[in-house]
Amino acid sequence: MLIADSTLIAGVGTGLALAITLPFYRRQRKLERATAESEAHALRYGLHEPVSLHPVVNPDECIGIGACVAACPEDDVLGLRNGQAKVVSPARCIGHGLCERACPVEAIQLVFGSEKRGVEIPRIKHNFESNVPGLYIVGELGGMGLIRNAFEQGRQCVEGIAKEGRGPKDALDLAIIGCGPAGLATALHSLHQGLRFVVLEKEDVGGTVRNYPRKKIVMTGPVTVPGFGKLVFKEIVKERLIGLWEDIVRRTGLRVNTGETVSDIVRGKDGCFTVTSSRGAYRARRVVLAIGRRGVPRKLGVPGEGLPKVIYSLREPEAYQKDRVLVVGGGDSAVEAALALADQPGNQVTMAYRGDRFSRIKPGNLSRIDNAVARRRVEVLWSTSVVEITPGDVLVKTTNGTGARLGNDLLAVFAGGELPTKFLERCGVQVDVKFGEP
Ligand SMILES: Cc1cc2nc3c(=O)[nH]c(=O)nc-3n(C[C@H](O)[C@H](O)[C@H](O)COP(=O)(O)OP(=O)(O)OC[C@H]3O[C@@H](n4cnc5c(N)ncnc54)[C@H](O)[C@@H]3O)c2cc1C
Repeated sequence: MLIADSTLIAGVGTGLALAITLPFYRRQRKLERATAESEAHALRYGLHEPVSLHPVVNPDECIGIGACVAACPEDDVLGLRNGQAKVVSPARCIGHGLCERACPVEAIQLVFGSEKRGVEIPRIKHNFESNVPGLYIVGELGGMGLIRNAFEQGRQCVEGIAKEGRGPKDALDLAIIGCGPAGLATALHSLHQGLRFVVLEKEDVGGTVRNYPRKKIVMTGPVTVPGFGKLVFKEIVKERLIGLWEDIVRRTGLRVNTGETVSDIVRGKDGCFTVTSSRGAYRARRVVLAIGRRGVPRKLGVPGEGLPKVIYSLREPEAYQKDRVLVVGGGDSAVEAALALADQPGNQVTMAYRGDRFSRIKPGNLSRIDNAVARRRVEVLWSTSVVEITPGDVLVKTTNGTGARLGNDLLAVFAGGELPTKFLERCGVQVDVKFGEP
């Protein structure tokens, strides 16, 4: 009887253990199979090389439960191979950091750049202060992209500054440079904290978001706006988001000096800053730099680039119709611009890209451009650069030396931006180049 009982108990125990572990192993096997496919895809499209921030797995610590894979909201950044987490498409990482937080044994970490490709990051402390006392850096300039991060950093930075108390009467508490999401959040929290501040923005409220292609779907998360409430949405069309931010500015009474470019920031002996702009000078106890990483668009450096038909951003694609268009570049911005221009009546759109395939672009963009190419709405010239621009055409050359002249009315260049390093250096901010560091 006793033997029968213990056999029964052992049987039930084994059954229970199997019931718990079998689905887990099935899931792991499925993940491993999917990873093999994703790896091949990443290699094919150059997504296996990181661009900036991306995760790195420590194989000595990883226990292979796949929590990081499940936590990542992006496509195929992580997978599972040989019972351990594997970084598959690091180029798709946009720095949510959810993988890092999901790992119970701290085996995964986000790092900037890679051994091969360094990334310039200004030196900042945990409270966003740079090596220049009183000069803070928030948003994408600090190395962390995404609208939600920008909002969160603006909040945290101002909360720290507000605790320091008031400065001299003849100086503002704060000068905020830039009014993209990071500057906007900094300004709204400053307003809420009752600080005396000025917001100087060289273009208009919204920063990089305002320059996204028309009708672009923006992915973001909930943020709390002081004096307005909580904004809860995961996806929103760019125009609606900009409209919402403009509404917030109106309703809160926030003053933004748009069209005002800051050229110099000098810290005086008393610790206050003189901020020089295109319209004047301001004295402020603290400065928050929220100028993003767009800097100045990278130029091609070829004859004829000064012609008015050469553009570096595309806000109104409908302004271009019945045109022979050449889009230069192979990133998301170039692809989105090419697609938007191809949607306009009568346009003939060609892309010229130095690479031999689209690497590091979002999966949605990849399928849309593949589709447009298959339907002959866009033609892509691979391994091709622009050599010369004239009013009526463009001279292009492939890497093997073949040249061609293309009839052209509009040249849209999306060759990335140069970090405003010189400006930062003038302000005394130290910039490090990170080669795979946390
Ligand atoms: C094509 C594209 C798609 C994206 N999609 C998403 C997405 O779906 N979801 C998401 O979360 N993120 C997305 N991002 C990233 C997101 O846009 C950025 O992370 C975010 O805009 C960074 O905000 P920021 O305020 O730090 O900088 P920015 O938005 O770049 O704003 C900086 C501001 O500073 C101003 N400025 C610069 N220099 C000066 C100066 N000297 N004087 C005065 N003003 C100055 C600029 O005019 C600008 O308005 C995308 C980015 C791109 C390029």
